[in-house]
Amino acid sequence: MRSHYCGTITADQIDQDVTLCGWVDRRRDHGGVIFLDLRDREGIVQVVFDPDTEAHFARADKVRNEYVIAVKGRVRARTETTVNPNMPTGEIEILGKELEILNSAATPPFQLDEHIEVGEDVRLKYRYVDLRRPEMQERLRLRSRITSVIRRYLDDHGFMDIETPILTRATPEGARDYLVPSRTHEGKFFALPQSPQLFKQLLMVSGMDRYYQIARCFRDEDLRADRQPEFTQIDLETSFMTDEEIMTITEEMIRELLKEVLNVELGDFPRMPYAEAMERFGSDKPDLRIPLELVDVNDLMRQVDFKVFNGPANDPKGRVAALKVPGGASISRKQIDGYTKFVSIYGARGLAWIKVNDQAAGIEGLQSPILKFMPDDIVKQMMERLAVADGDIVFFGADKTKVVNEALGALRVKLGEDLNLFTSQWAPLWVVDFPMFEETGDGNWTSLHHPFTAPACSPEALEKDPAAALSVAYDMVLNGMELGGGSIRIHQLEMQQAVFRILGIGEDEAREKFGFLLDALTFGAPPHGGLAFGLDRLVMLMTGAKSIRDVIAFPKTQSASCVMTEAPGTVGNAQLRELNISLREKPGA
Ligand code: ASP
Repeated sequence: MRSHYCGTITADQIDQDVTLCGWVDRRRDHGGVIFLDLRDREGIVQVVFDPDTEAHFARADKVRNEYVIAVKGRVRARTETTVNPNMPTGEIEILGKELEILNSAATPPFQLDEHIEVGEDVRLKYRYVDLRRPEMQERLRLRSRITSVIRRYLDDHGFMDIETPILTRATPEGARDYLVPSRTHEGKFFALPQSPQLFKQLLMVSGMDRYYQIARCFRDEDLRADRQPEFTQIDLETSFMTDEEIMTITEEMIRELLKEVLNVELGDFPRMPYAEAMERFGSDKPDLRIPLELVDVNDLMRQVDFKVFNGPANDPKGRVAALKVPGGASISRKQIDGYTKFVSIYGARGLAWIKVNDQAAGIEGLQSPILKFMPDDIVKQMMERLAVADGDIVFFGADKTKVVNEALGALRVKLGEDLNLFTSQWAPLWVVDFPMFEETGDGNWTSLHHPFTAPACSPEALEKDPAAALSVAYDMVLNGMELGGGSIRIHQLEMQQAVFRILGIGEDEAREKFGFLLDALTFGAPPHGGLAFGLDRLVMLMTGAKSIRDVIAFPKTQSASCVMTEAPGTVGNAQLRELNISLREKPGA
């Protein structure tokens, strides 16, 4: 139907006849001349109708915002005074000759440029209108470019794109499963995959050697701001590659992606052990753009006669750490109160601080409500360790290690943002040497990654001291976000059985749930490993979008529903009967 996209017309087409199709972005009536801004995927162009073309002029008079029209016309230069340098097509306009209304449109639920005021629910209910906004189009376009660059990279490196089932059995990644009742097997359910983990491992057993998939994953979790119940992974798996080789090949992929799409040079990715990341940054996904670090002061605080500090300092599961903020002495009491409230979200019961007003004056030059509890020489040693200077503030966290790390780790990022301390735009790294297991509190263990991750030790050593075991896992972190994570997998039966035992998965349960995997491991499973990147987060980072919902065409709300289709919906009795399902009445309903 069309000869050009609206947004692509430039002075090169002057005097050419063109046919354009699109939506009326705006219509203006300038005393006898009608201006239409016509919009399509590629942008906006101005079309002018004058009364000479009577019938078409009359139609142009009738159109309203978001009508779909086709226009035939001639490209002409705008007069000097009407050139619009802010518009890519601002040098030209189309003198309209014919106008056909292809479809009318009801008054839109919101003006495209006033979307902010209507709230996200309205945007999501009329998502097809919301997606007409150039900003949203741009994000989806970039998403498509990202997947295409990634596909090309992986294709070029010998990876095969292979689909894995959506209707399957549970694949544990630590979330609840979405279940689908089976009609043909009464009382039985499929689970939607939390990831293609087991299938990709089985593809390695099949000898595929290098697999990838842009895969949809489903996790029924209580949603946090940056989560979606269904999301997309760039999922890959390889055989006969070491962890170093896998990191190298995927790091190169991300480097090429950012270079090609954003013209950003990421440079080398440093590797940092998990323990170091937790100790220095209180996080396993440290944002290295922020030059603040946690410093342990356990040894000093043990000598302080103040329970808030010496309690955690003497507790093997406790930690006392300091966070120095250069130039932070100007932070007001009120702001400190705000930060105290902020760290309380992470369970911290307070936020002690010391301001350094005049370092040369020794203790006298410090200002803090906690100084009176501390011997001078301890304070002095602490200030030396922290290498404080005039104008600094030091914050303290004293609690269980987990609380201190989470609270000070988050505070570090918040201070970095509030005080704009960023030293670079991009800071990638690999976090490696994760612990195999985490204690659940009741004396049980759970996998830090997933139960198929290989430990860096023998099955015997693993069973002897699960707490000490490290895994061969790696997470790629960019600007404080976990972009992807993976591991070398267990490829030997004995090791897999040992891990199941530690996790409290008995032999019968293991057979029932993972019998197919255990069998496969006995039929010549090669050493293998891989990882998965979160595509949505990657796109967020690369587009600068603030919400994950802004990079997904049809996302779910935070309560895991779709306001447009009204999914999930109710199901009629006939359908339920077919599935042999009867709904229980809610107690009290
Ligand atoms: N399946 C893992 C996940 O979804 C990634 C991997 O280990 O490859 O986190």
